[in-house]
Amino acid sequence: MPADPGPPPLPALQQPRWPDTPALPAALATLARSLPLVLPSECALLKHRLAAVARGEAFLVQGGDCAESLDALHPDAVHRTVALLGRLGSVLGRAMELPVVTVGRLAGQYAKPRSSPTELRDGTELPVYRGDAVNGHAFTAADRAPDPDRLVRVYQASAATLNLVRALAGSAREEPREDLPEELFTSHEGLLLDYERALTRTDPAFAKPYAASGHLLWIGERTRQLDGAHLAYFASIANPIAVKIGPTTGTDELIRLVERLDPDREPGRLTLIARMGAGRVRSVLPDLVSKVRAEGMTVGWVSDPMHGNTVGAPCGRKTRRFDDILDELSGFFEVTRELGAHPGGVHLELTGEDVAECVGGGGRGVLPEDLPGGYRSVCDPRLNPEQSLHLADRLAALIAR
Ligand code: PEP
Ligand code: MN
Repeated sequence: MPADPGPPPLPALQQPRWPDTPALPAALATLARSLPLVLPSECALLKHRLAAVARGEAFLVQGGDCAESLDALHPDAVHRTVALLGRLGSVLGRAMELPVVTVGRLAGQYAKPRSSPTELRDGTELPVYRGDAVNGHAFTAADRAPDPDRLVRVYQASAATLNLVRALAGSAREEPREDLPEELFTSHEGLLLDYERALTRTDPAFAKPYAASGHLLWIGERTRQLDGAHLAYFASIANPIAVKIGPTTGTDELIRLVERLDPDREPGRLTLIARMGAGRVRSVLPDLVSKVRAEGMTVGWVSDPMHGNTVGAPCGRKTRRFDDILDELSGFFEVTRELGAHPGGVHLELTGEDVAECVGGGGRGVLPEDLPGGYRSVCDPRLNPEQSLHLADRLAALIAR
């Protein structure tokens, strides 16, 4: 009798089509014997911090690039982004009168889900850019071919970034300063399951395996299917985790998602990141928050005001209007407060570099005509430091009202 093949693998959306060569198993074997980037005790500490967010006793500031880029990796850029997170934390922590938990979208944010598998330009069709963990951004067949060696390169870049982040946070502990957080955790979308599984580790002190690729991993809006491979992987790890939820999320679906990912109702285990769009947050979010509260589930509620507000600019690039971003944040605060829930934090795409990607902001702000010259993102548009700080000031004013 042939051996029982077992259940078929669960569908895993958004995975690259790797070449059918020994390169992928070789890269995964390298990762499997590599050092962990984070320790389970650190993940447990972040879970403890996020439990305070869920209870209404702390505020999460999570932010960084949409997609980190190996070419753009530079110590000053990391320093400036970390410092920006620190400044935002100071402003928002003061406004909320709460301690801040700072989490970077960095040291591992190298894989992107995409809406189409290919990109067509001037009659040429190539695989879409899926993040530096998979292929290159340049529109050439060579760059766009998925290359498994990149998995090892982004692991190494993540290790180097994390080393710098730890040094910056360490120096801020020695000598506290307004513009550097003293404690900073890392996060990324846990999209590439081969990569995450190869970096999953066990530790005798912890009952479950944990993802050693970053402190907090989240499931994206496009891969949160209840019967999908991402949910199964996330259910199997001990890290604090988050899920992005968009405007089509049903209330029953959300309850099943929470039950599946946080069956033990462990404080700090699960954060829900709402990314509804400014036009829908006030109509869609109330039912979701009410239902989760009625079930007695203690998740953290965080607003991502970026991903529901992406629009095309006249130059053809993706952009976001500052006013839409602020409007979604205001809606999120209105809804949560109205229901007696805690507006637990913000999730932003931002950079310490002076880019022109989102439009609007304080003063002259960024104009659509600035985009062609000032756009650096390899994926979604980020807030620059001026826009980020202006957003924090405007939000602080709203909070105080
Ligand atoms: C992202 O965070 O870059 C992203 C793709 O978000 P979402 O899954 O919410 O669309
Ligand atoms: Mn993005």
